[in-house]
Parts: sequence; C-alpha cells; structure tokens
Amino acid sequence: MNCYDCLSEDRSTPAAAVCRRCGAGVCTGHTHTAPQTLRRSSGLGRTHLPRPARRMTCTTCYKAEVQP
Ligand SMILES: [Zn+2]
Ligand SMILES: [Zn+2]
Repeated sequence: MNCYDCLSEDRSTPAAAVCRRCGAGVCTGHTHTAPQTLRRSSGLGRTHLPRPARRMTCTTCYKAEVQP
C-alpha cells in the first residue's frame, strides 16, 4: 500500500501507517501521531487508564479534527 496523501501529490511512497479515522495508508511524513486517553467502565463510573494509547491519522483527518 502507498501513501494516499502522496498519491494526490503525484508521488508514490510506501505507507508506514493506516489512518485511524479514514483508513487511508500514510507515510511517515503524512502521519500525525497523538496520544489517546483510554477510558474503562467500572462499577462506579468511568476511569481513565494511566497510560495513553497511540492514535495515528492522516493529514486530512488531522486538520479536520483540529479545526473548530
Ligand atoms: Zn505521504
Ligand atoms: Zn484519514
């Protein structure tokens, strides 16, 4: 699989990750990594797990999430 964002720029770069949101393949240059806090439902409500997970998105989805 090649990076989808690179294909739109007429380049072909092997994808290093898959966008968590849209499923497009993305190279290291187009990947945006962000920590994601996980929640666990327990008997009395929700608790946050101490360590964040990793969440990788493409440039398009990253911009879409950052813009208000
Ligand atoms: Zn790329
Ligand atoms: Zn995406």
